[in-house]
Amino acid sequence: MQSAHLYPSARNWRENKPQYGHLIGNRWQDSDAAPIPVTAPATGHDFAWLARGGASEIDAAVIAARAALAGDWGRATATERGRLMQDFATLVLANADQLAWIEAHDTGKPISQARADLRAVARYFQFYGEAADKVHGEVIPYLTDYNVSVVREPLGVTAHITPWNYPAQMFGRTIAPALAMGNAAVLKPAEEACLVCLELGQLMVQAGLPAGALNIVTGLGEAAGAALTRHPGINFVSFTGSPEVGRLVQEAAAIHHVPVVLELGGKSPQVVFADADLEAAAAAVCKAIIQNAGQTCSAGSRVLVERSIFGIFTRLLSEHFAAVRVGVPEQDADLGPLISATQQRRVLDFIQDAQRDGLPMIVQTPIPTQLEHGFFVPPTVFGPVPADHRLVCQEVFGPVLAAQVFDSEEEAVALANGTEFGLVAGVWTHDGARQQRMARCIVSGQVFINCYGAGGGVELPFGGTKRSGHGREKGLMALEELSTTKTIVNYYG
Ligand code: NAD
Repeated sequence: MQSAHLYPSARNWRENKPQYGHLIGNRWQDSDAAPIPVTAPATGHDFAWLARGGASEIDAAVIAARAALAGDWGRATATERGRLMQDFATLVLANADQLAWIEAHDTGKPISQARADLRAVARYFQFYGEAADKVHGEVIPYLTDYNVSVVREPLGVTAHITPWNYPAQMFGRTIAPALAMGNAAVLKPAEEACLVCLELGQLMVQAGLPAGALNIVTGLGEAAGAALTRHPGINFVSFTGSPEVGRLVQEAAAIHHVPVVLELGGKSPQVVFADADLEAAAAAVCKAIIQNAGQTCSAGSRVLVERSIFGIFTRLLSEHFAAVRVGVPEQDADLGPLISATQQRRVLDFIQDAQRDGLPMIVQTPIPTQLEHGFFVPPTVFGPVPADHRLVCQEVFGPVLAAQVFDSEEEAVALANGTEFGLVAGVWTHDGARQQRMARCIVSGQVFINCYGAGGGVELPFGGTKRSGHGREKGLMALEELSTTKTIVNYYG
C-alpha cells in the first residue's frame, strides 16, 4: 500500500476530481485496487474518487486503533478527551459552510439540510465532549471489610459501519460517544456518499486527535465492511443500514462474541385522530416523508387516519405535497434526488407496483423536466392502502407515503404495530388519556405526541425494536452501549 497524503485542497475542490484516501493512524493512504467513482445524485456526474479498501486496510486500521489504546489516546484523561472533542466541534462550525457544500453535492440533499446536518455533528461532539468526564462509577454496600466499586471502562476497538443517507450526522452519532468513552474507532462509511466523513477525519487530526484514535477505511460493504465485522481485533460493532446486511453483521460479529448495536430502519406510522389539529398534523406528516427525500430511517412512511376525517385530512395533505419544491442542492428546495440510480429504480418500482395493484393515488408532485438527469422521484401518496400491501409492510426509502384508515383506537394500535418494524411513531390527538394509552401500546423505540421529530435531538435515546434493530444510540444511553463495567471487590480486613 503506497503512502500518500490524498486529502484534497478544499479550494480546488470544484475544479479537480479529488481522490480521497483512507485515514489510518492519522496518515492518508491509498489502495492498490481501482478507486471507486463518486457520483453527484443531482446530476448523475462523477466528481471524485474514493479509495477501495479491503481486508488489508481494515487490518492496518485495527492495528492503528489498538496502538492508540496502548499509547497517548489510552492515557488521555476523560477531561482531555472531552476538551479535544469540543475543540473539534468548534472546527466543524468554523468550516460548516464548506463541509455542508460537500455533503450536499455528495448526497444531493438541499443545502440547508446539509447545513443542519453539520450543526448536528458539532452538537454531537459538544454533547458527548461535555459528558466525557461525567460518567462516574458506583460504590456498592457489601460485606463487612469489603469495598466494592463498579468502574466504567472503554470497550476497546469499536467498529462503525454507516449508511449514505446522513453521512455527516452518522459520523457524529456513532463516533462522538465512542471517543468520549475512550475507545479507538474504525469507521467504514457507505461507498455511495461519505466524503464529508473523510473531511471530518482531517479536522479531527487538526484538532489534535492522537494517531489511531479514529481511522476511516472506505470501500465496498462486502469487502471492507465484511472484513471489519469479522476482524478478531474489534470489541464492538455499530451498524446502521438495511435489515438484510444487519443480520450478516450480527452473524459475523458473533464469530468473536462481539456486541452489536443495529439500527435497521423502519416503517414508522403517524396516527391521526379526528380531534387532532389536522392542519399541524398534515404539515408534519408531509415533512416527515419529504425530509431527505424519504431516505431517513425514521421517516414517517405511513399515516393512519381515523375514517371520519380521511377525506378532509388527505385533502390537506395533498395541498402540502403539491407545494413541495423539488430541486438540486443549490436551489435549496424541499426535496432533492435519491442517492443513486439503483435507489431511484427501486423506489419507482414501488410506485409502479402500487399503480398496477390499483391503489388509489391521492397526490403526486411532478418532477420538473430540467432535473431529468438526476435521480429524482416524484413525492407520492397512496391510500387507503391495505395492511398487507408491500407499500405498508416494506421500507421504501423514498418520498412515498402509504395512508391507512382506521375506525377505533384498538384498530389504530393494531395497524401501527402491524409491520415487522418498530422504530418511531407519531400520535396526533388532544385526548390526554388516549395519548398515554397509545404511547404505551405502540411497540417502537420512540413515540412523538402532537409532534414528529424524525429521530429527535442528540439528547434523546434512539433505536428500534423488532426488525428495526436493537441497542440505543444518542443521549446518555449511547455512553452505556459504548463502554463496559468492571466490578472491583477489595477486602481490607
Ligand atoms: P446497506 O445495508 O447495504 O449498507 C449500509 C452500510 O453497510 C454501508 O456502509 C455498506 O457498505 C455496508 N455493508 C454492505 N454490505 C456489508 C456487509 N456484508 N458487511 C458489512 N458491511 C456491509 O444498505 P444499502 O444497500 O445502501 O441500502 C439498501 C436499503 O437499506 C435501503 O433501500 C434502505 O431501505 C435501507 N437503508 C436503511 C438505512 C437506515 O438508516 N436505517 C440507511 C441506508 C439504507
